[in-house]
Formats: sequence, structure tokens, C-alpha cells
Amino acid sequence: MACQRLDGKALALRIREELAVKTAELKAHGVTPGLAVILVGNDPASETYVRNKGIACEKAGMHSETIRLPEETTQEELLARIRALNADPAIDGILVQLPLPAHLDERAALNAILPEKDVDGFHLLNAGKLLTGEASVVPCTPKGVMRLIREAGVSLAGKEAVVVGRSNIVGKPMALLLLQAGCTVTVCHSKTRDLAEHTRQADVLVVAVGKPGLIRGDMVKPGAVVIDVGINRVDGKLYGDVAFDEAAEKAGWLTPVPGGVGPMTIAMLLENTLEAAQRRA
Ligand code: NAD
Repeated sequence: MACQRLDGKALALRIREELAVKTAELKAHGVTPGLAVILVGNDPASETYVRNKGIACEKAGMHSETIRLPEETTQEELLARIRALNADPAIDGILVQLPLPAHLDERAALNAILPEKDVDGFHLLNAGKLLTGEASVVPCTPKGVMRLIREAGVSLAGKEAVVVGRSNIVGKPMALLLLQAGCTVTVCHSKTRDLAEHTRQADVLVVAVGKPGLIRGDMVKPGAVVIDVGINRVDGKLYGDVAFDEAAEKAGWLTPVPGGVGPMTIAMLLENTLEAAQRRA
């Protein structure tokens, strides 16, 4: 079977159009969804992500605020900003752009966000709810990956899923979502002895590492759904973690980079913000 490209850009655009309609309906009832993004320091990649999130919000008709804080911001100043946004009735979603400068306590900052305004789903309460299968705010990137897999039309129950990467923001929540969907899940990471041995078993392979070309064609099971979360900038060009051309020889479905998971992450952030506003309404 020829490999099908899973077009995250087109799917995200469709979702964003639907969200714009729902946002307009909510605004007609006097509630405008609002997202505040806190950016500390001036990491160029974070600057781009934050700008794109703001633009996407405004295009959907939502209110968006970016709070830019200098690199030398103290923990207390950061927490004070978060508390002010928690109390701001115009703000439904608060996102602290990661990574924070090394002197700041990331976990304390994320836990300071009101769980109902935690649109990234990184607060301990939301992470715990995801673990126990209660309704929660689901982190945007893994949520977007689940939508892409659904778009491929494959049923997940009973399938072998392999997640490469075990970060709190992608790998671990991804594994939990696939588990909830009935997959048998293996999580691989930097200490995994024989990565290829695992990836070759995967009906669904999600790769979130940050190493260009880590997954070669011979590591992919024929017909597999392969989702490449990685974003690697090499000589000004973006690459995923999967060697695309090689993997396309084997996979049934494959996401490109750029144009795969990235746009879905933003669409899911808007969805989480809209859902928070709907709860407020
Ligand atoms: P991270 O650095 O926190 O985690 C990387 C993980 O990869 C770790 O768990 C580590 O154990 C594992 N790893 C490292 N080397 C490995 C190897 N050789 N074999 C197997 N596993 C290995 O990264 P993250 O925040 O989870 O992000 C991962 C990638 O996804 C990055 O490229 C990041 O830019 C990208 N990302 C993309 C989006 C998006 O919207 N598309 C969102 C978040 C992250």
C-alpha cells in the first residue's frame, strides 16, 4: 500500500475554522475566549511559537495577550503575574512558554496556574486526571497527535503502539492517551537498549525526541502509522525525527515536518481555550 501523507496543516485549518464559528457563537452570548501567554527571556524559537499562537488566537476571534518578561525575572515576579491572570475574568487560558530560564522553577510556575485555566494541561491536577482517566485538559501536542491518528481512520484498540521519548509534555501524556484508546504501549527513551527492535513492532509509532533522522526506514513496520513530533532546525531548515523519504517506503501513514504535528498543536491550544471559555459561560 502506498504511504499516505497525514496533512496536519490542512486538518488544523479545518479545526480552526470550526473553532472560529464556535467562538463567534460564544461571543454572541457575551463571552470572548481569552488566552494569555507568558514569555520569559528572548529565546528565538519560543518567540516564534508565541507569535504564532497569538496570531492563531486572533484569527479565531479570540482575545489574546502576550506578557513578555525579561530574562532576569524572579520567581516571585513570575508567580505574581500568573496570580493576576488567574484573577482576570477576560482570561480563560494561561500558558507559560517553556523552557523557562534555568533560574526559574518550572514546576512551581505551572502549578500556580488555576487548573481550569491550564490550557496546556501541565498542572499536576490535570496530569493526575489524565493518568486516572478522568476528564481533564489534555496537553496540546499529544491531543493533536490523537486527532491525526483518528484522521488516518485506523482503529487503535489492540494495536501495538510505540512512543519514543518520555517527556512530561509529549512522551508520557502521549503514552497515556494511546493506553486509554486500547493500545498496548511501549515507551522508548535514551536508555532503551535496542530502539529498532521496539519500533519495528509498532502499528502506531510516535516519535518525540529532537534528533533529526533518528528513525530510519528499516525501523518502521510495513503499513504503520508514523507520527513525527520532532522539530529540528538544521541550517535554517526544519526536519523531524523520522527520515521522511525512507519511512515513506514502509509506512501506511506518515506526518511531514513541517506541516504535520506542529499546526495541530496550535489548533488544540485554541480548542482547549475555547473549552475553558465554554465552561466559564
Ligand atoms: P525532551 O528533550 O524533553 O525529551 C526528549 C526525549 O527523547 C527524552 O525522553 C529522551 O529520553 C528521549 N531520547 C533522547 N535520545 C534518544 C534516543 N537516542 N533514542 C530514544 N529516545 C531518546 O523533548 P520534548 O519536549 O519531548 O520534545 C521532543 C521533540 O518534539 C523536540 O524536537 C521538540 O522540538 C518537539 N516538539 C514538537 C512539538 C510540536 O508541536 N510539533 C511540541 C513539543 C515538542
